[in-house]
Order: sequence, then structure tokens, then C-alpha cells
Amino acid sequence: MDLPKLRRWPSHNCWFGRPYGPPIAFVVHTQSGGESGTVAEWLSSSSHFSAHYRAGLEGTLECWIDPADRAWSNGIVEPGNRWVAIAQACGVDPALNPNHVTVACETEDGGDAEQPVTELQYEALLCAATQAIQRYPDSLRYLVRHADISPQSRPGCPGDRWLSSGRFEALAHALGLKIVG
Ligand SMILES: [Zn+2]
Repeated sequence: MDLPKLRRWPSHNCWFGRPYGPPIAFVVHTQSGGESGTVAEWLSSSSHFSAHYRAGLEGTLECWIDPADRAWSNGIVEPGNRWVAIAQACGVDPALNPNHVTVACETEDGGDAEQPVTELQYEALLCAATQAIQRYPDSLRYLVRHADISPQSRPGCPGDRWLSSGRFEALAHALGLKIVG
């Protein structure tokens, strides 16, 4: 596969370092639902938007936060979650905020939750996750939907464009990562 063009947009919307240990999961998001916004919002230090990577529909891959630091995009563990099972399987305290032990990628949908994942976008996400796994080959074991952590407030993240389409499962298979449920 052709590697997507990687752009770096350093963001300060993160906590530095990984004092709680290396990441155990790579979390996939879809941008709709007001979770993330424009480049300007991302670059704004007052913004709470925060993820390590963003994969565009045209295959661009942006790195906002180094995987050695912690983004803030998936920290709310809600009733019905699958996160506790993942944390326990990895020997991590299930009460720990997932942001401490995850790498997160937003995927562009152009404001339309029905927007299909493009082949180029899939490859960009594959590249991001591959980078993260190469960095944390021993600890990174799960591919996680944001809805696995926050099933009440984010049931559609990353949504059917990843799930019904089979892309999410294909990605896990290609990466050798486990999925739950
Ligand atoms: Zn999300």
C-alpha cells in the first residue's frame, strides 16, 4: 500500500508522558456529533478536542499528539461499557481513565454520519494504528470503538460506516488486534 502523507499539527490538548504505563488499545472515532471540529478548533489551546491522529476521506493522515503523550478524546466510562473487560484482560486498573492507556484516531466524515469510509481513509487509519503498534508492540492489544467506552453518549462513534461496512473488523484483522463484543 502507498503510505499516506503524514502531516504533523502539534497540539497541546494532551497530557504529557505515560506515567500509567503504555497504551493497551487503539480507539477509533468518527468526527460527526460535534466531537471534533475544524483545524482552527484543534489548534486552539482553549479547545478540549484532542486525539492523536486524524484520518481524512482523501487519505491524509494528521498526527496531532505524539502517541507517547495522552489525548483526551475517550475518558468517560459509561454503563454498558466494554472497557472494563478490556482493561482487566490487559491487567490495567479498570477504574483508570481510558485516556491514560489508549491511542485515539478521529476519522473524517464530512459532517455526514452515513459517509462511507473510503479506501484511502481506511489505509490512513491502518497506517496510524500500525505506527502505534510498532511503538507499543507488547502492550497494544485491542482495537476499540469509542462506543465501547461511552455507549450512552457516543453510541454512533465510530458508527456503522465502520461497523456495518465491515471496515472495523477488517482493520482489527489486518492489525492483529482483538475486538470485544
Ligand atoms: Zn468518538
